[in-house]
Formats: sequence, structure tokens, C-alpha cells
Amino acid sequence: MTEDRPTAVVLGGSLAGLLTARALVAGGARVTVVERDALPDGPVPRKGLPQARHVHQLWSGGARALEELLPGAIGRLRAAGVSRVPMTTDMVALSPYGWYRRWAESAFMLPASRDLLDWVVRQLVLADGRISLERGEAAGLTGTGGAVTGVRVRAHDSAERTLTADLVVDATGRGSRAAGWLTGLGLPAVERREVDSGLVYASRLYRAPAAARAGFPVVNIEPDPRGSGTGRGGVLMPVEDGKWIVTLFGGRGDEPPACAAGFERYARDGLRHPLIGELLGGGAEPLGEVAVTRTTANRRHFFERMPVWPENFLVVGDAVCALNPVYGHGMAVAARSALAVRDVVRRRGLGSRGLARQAQRAVGRTVRAAWDLAVGADVFYPGATEKGPTLRDRVLAAYVGRLLRTAAGNGRVARRVTDVTALERGAEVLLAPSVVVAAVAGPLRPALAAPPLTREERRSAGL
Ligand SMILES: Cc1cc2nc3c(=O)[nH]c(=O)nc-3n(C[C@H](O)[C@H](O)[C@H](O)COP(=O)(O)OP(=O)(O)OC[C@H]3O[C@@H](n4cnc5c(N)ncnc54)[C@H](O)[C@@H]3O)c2cc1C
Repeated sequence: MTEDRPTAVVLGGSLAGLLTARALVAGGARVTVVERDALPDGPVPRKGLPQARHVHQLWSGGARALEELLPGAIGRLRAAGVSRVPMTTDMVALSPYGWYRRWAESAFMLPASRDLLDWVVRQLVLADGRISLERGEAAGLTGTGGAVTGVRVRAHDSAERTLTADLVVDATGRGSRAAGWLTGLGLPAVERREVDSGLVYASRLYRAPAAARAGFPVVNIEPDPRGSGTGRGGVLMPVEDGKWIVTLFGGRGDEPPACAAGFERYARDGLRHPLIGELLGGGAEPLGEVAVTRTTANRRHFFERMPVWPENFLVVGDAVCALNPVYGHGMAVAARSALAVRDVVRRRGLGSRGLARQAQRAVGRTVRAAWDLAVGADVFYPGATEKGPTLRDRVLAAYVGRLLRTAAGNGRVARRVTDVTALERGAEVLLAPSVVVAAVAGPLRPALAAPPLTREERRSAGL
């Protein structure tokens, strides 16, 4: 019986790869995941996932997709000490228009360390006997521009062999070579767009002060593109084990320093408000060095627009659309794309003609909302694009600015904005007549003068 199942090979064993593997077995396949790294037996760092040293929040739109693909995943994260952060109830955030109030919950986020999240996903996915893991490096596709038949894989000892499959999925992340592989098969170049805010990320892990190890809110100092110090911002996210991960960022010429002393100074004196710096000075204990990355450009390959597409080949995750991490959407998009692939495969059946093209289009649709949100904001960073923002960009940004200003003093609008940010609802809800009227009217309550931390939270953090 099992031997008659269609086969798939998924390249890359990170979040997009593992969740797509899961989606394909739910659609009836046997799957081999090919991963370059030796995947660790625990929630620990690995070479192929350097971004794990930085804040990784999972928005609820992604968390729900994760749970649908892997029932029990959220429970395991919670059991490992990850909190469930109701938005904006347990968030203290300074928007460009002032402090958000801590409104009643709409969406939520899961603030796990990335190593833990991947470990939970890995355990659940690889426990499935229909999914096997092979160590090796994908080196190129086999087949023609009409149909892919498999993939060449270089083993750890550098011997090369071909894995044949009914479907090959590229989930190798930002460094994917899919576009080049396709032109190598004689297909036209894929349309590609890049919008690079130039943001640099610097992150450090801390042990929270003892009294603040449970229930402390996420702190977010957002950048204000209109002010000086364009792009400067920071996040303090309480993760499992009573730790805080702190990520600071800044745009071109405004980058956070990589040294420990400079990092804390930037948190205190370099952002729009010193709260994160004050919290670090209140008894947080550093647990390692500062990690820096410049891997923040938005880059999308419009594979779904190709005039021709080979049978049996699919690209998912960051390999399709890598996003500026400041909006925290990459993992949620990967999970939602995997769900979309599962639905297409269930409907059409693996091996059916045109399946790959339809699945690629479904992935393109899941990417769109997060792409529009990120690019709509990032085109305003100096040097992000060759031509700068268009008139449409400016009109949209003016409306979004109005919405954010209103959200600071109107709970109903704040919840709509949060739902869209969390990928729970589509951006069209922000154009509903009642929301447009509210945005024109502006905030119902005055701006807050100080961060909305409770007295207990201040005391617990040594403020
Ligand atoms: C600094 C930073 C912070 C981020 N913060 C957030 C956040 O807060 N929230 C959020 O939702 N997202 C965030 N993201 C995005 C998130 O990390 C990615 O969207 C997510 O990891 C899914 O990516 P992926 O699985 O497509 O690729 P990756 O996670 O990059 O994984 C690619 C995998 O492919 C393997 N590989 C590469 N080449 C080959 C090959 N030739 N053969 C075999 N294996 C190969 C790699 O070893 C790796 O395991 C952040 C990203 C960055 C860079």
C-alpha cells in the first residue's frame, strides 16, 4: 500500500520545508526532506538558521495555521513555557502616533525562541513515518522546462546522487537558487522585486529579573519614518525559561552597535523612548554576545506569474518571498502557505497535471498581504527602491498613518489594525465604511503621556 503513494522531495528542513512536508503527507504523499545541516536533537542553534538569534514572534494568523497542520503544537510550546500574548492587552508599544492603550484582546502572538519553535515542529513532523529526513545539499533539478523529475543532491561526503520524485519543493530560504535552476531548464527569467529598507538588526539574550520572569508584556518601540533617526526601533520579547530577547534596529547610517556597552546605550539613548534601556538596566542579566544581521530586505519572486511552469516543481517560504523581519510575518506566511498547498494537493491529487502551477499560485496568494504591508511601509526608507514611493504608495501611507493615529485612542480601530497585522483578517477590513469614518474622525481619547506599564510590572522589572 505505502509503496504506491506518490513521492515528494522537500529541499530545506526549516519551518517552510517541514510544514510543507506535513501538508504533503496530509495530501497522501511519502516525503523525503533534504537538509544541508545536521538537525540538532533539541532546541539549540544551528548554522543554517542564523536568524534564530533574533526576535521571532509568531502572529496568531500563523499560529492557527501551525495548529491546523500539527495539532498539539501550540500546547507543546505552552508546556515548554511560551506565553500566549493577547494583543494589545499584553503589549506596551510606542507607535509613531503615541503609546497604544492596552485594549481588550483581538489577535495574539506566541513569543517563543526560534530554536524552541523549530524543535517542537521538527519533533511533530519527523514522528510521522511517511516523512524521512536525509542530510545533503540540493545541487540542481533534473528534468526539462516542461516537467521536473527530481533533484541532484550532494551528500555530506560530497558524493552526488539523484532523487526522483512526483513533486520537488524548494524551501531553501533566502539563498534559494530556484530562479537560476529554472532558467537552466530553458525557462524565462522570473520577475523579481526587492525593496530594501537597509535596516540592521542587533540582538542579545538576557535573563529577566526574577520578579519579571512570568507575565511581563512585550515591549515594542516602533520606528517613526517621519522623525529623525529614521528606522530606529527595538523589541523586548519575554521568551520561555524566564529570558528576554532584545532586538534593536536602525536604518542606513543609524545602525545599532555590535558591542555590549553600545547596545545598551542605543536601547537607552538611541530610540524614541528609553524604556527598553531602562528595563535592561533594572536587573536583567546578559546571557551572551550581541548578534548582528543585515538580512532584512524584502525580496519576492513572482513565480506564479511565469508564462510557463514545469510540472512537479514548487517553491515555498522565504525562497518565494523573504520579508523585512521587523513586521514578523515570515513564519506565519510559511505556515499559511503550507495549508494552502495541502488544500490544493487534497483537491487535485499529487501527480495530477497542472497541480504544481496551481499550488504555486496558491502560495503567491498567501504571500500577498504580508508583502503589501511590508513594502507599503518600506518604500519610504531612503534608498529602498530606485524610484522611491509612487503616488499610490503615498496615498495609502497617508491613510495607514491616519488609522494608526486613530488606533492609539480608539479600541475598535486598534483591534482591526491588530487583526490585519496578525494575518487574522485581510487588509480590506480597514476599508470598511465604519473604519474609514473612524479614521477621518481621529482618536476618541487623548494620547498617553507615558508607557502603559502597571505599577506591579514596573516594580517587578526594577523600575
Ligand atoms: C533576522 C530575522 C528575524 C526574523 N524574525 C521573524 C519574526 O519575528 N517572525 C516571523 O514570522 N518571521 C521572522 N523571520 C522570518 C523567518 O525566519 C522565515 O520566514 C522562516 O524561517 C521561514 O523560512 P524558510 O523555512 O523558508 O527558510 P529558512 O528558515 O531560511 O530555512 C532554509 C533551510 O534550508 C536549508 N538549506 C539551504 N540551502 C540548502 C540546500 N541547497 N540544500 C538543502 N538544504 C538547504 C537551510 O539549512 C535551512 O534549514 C525573521 C527572519 C530574519 C532574517
